[in-house]
Amino acid sequence: MERTFLAVKPDGVQRGLVGNIIGRFESKGFQLVGLKLVQVSRELAEKHYGEHKERPFFPGLVNFITSAPVVAMVWEGKGVIASARKIIGVTNPLNAENGTIRGDFGVDVGRNIIHGSDAPDTAEREIALWFTPAELCNWQPSISTWIY
Ligand code: ADP
Ligand code: MG
Repeated sequence: MERTFLAVKPDGVQRGLVGNIIGRFESKGFQLVGLKLVQVSRELAEKHYGEHKERPFFPGLVNFITSAPVVAMVWEGKGVIASARKIIGVTNPLNAENGTIRGDFGVDVGRNIIHGSDAPDTAEREIALWFTPAELCNWQPSISTWIY
């Protein structure tokens, strides 16, 4: 079954949106397999956002993501990588559709509430960067037969 890495960024945690955000993925039918609150180090932030290191917003992004705790998560399910990106909405919250997390809760591209892996290879890389295998649970809730 497919897995993706999601993280509620410091703004989402500070604004008390964690429960609402987790609820959206739960009620869609996805399954939580890893969850922790993390005070992110500069090293982890720079690795996580390595693809953006030449961009002008990179220093601000690293400062922001290390400024307060984030909620790091791994979610599992059919098509979860692409579906989570839809649930999250496009990068700039002003352009994100109403009903998406960024569309419902944000107005600024630098404060867009949540991160989600964008493809299978990045999901694999980010899960391995943020979680050890022992921190991930392999489990099947009995409700699964009502989703699949
Ligand atoms: P996404 O998070 O939708 O995958 P990107 O990978 O393009 O978006 O960018 C990573 C993060 O960098 C964004 O979520 C956002 O927090 C930040 N970011 C992207 N573009 C800008 C920008 N122009 N100004 C400030 N921050 C930005
Ligand atoms: Mg991205």
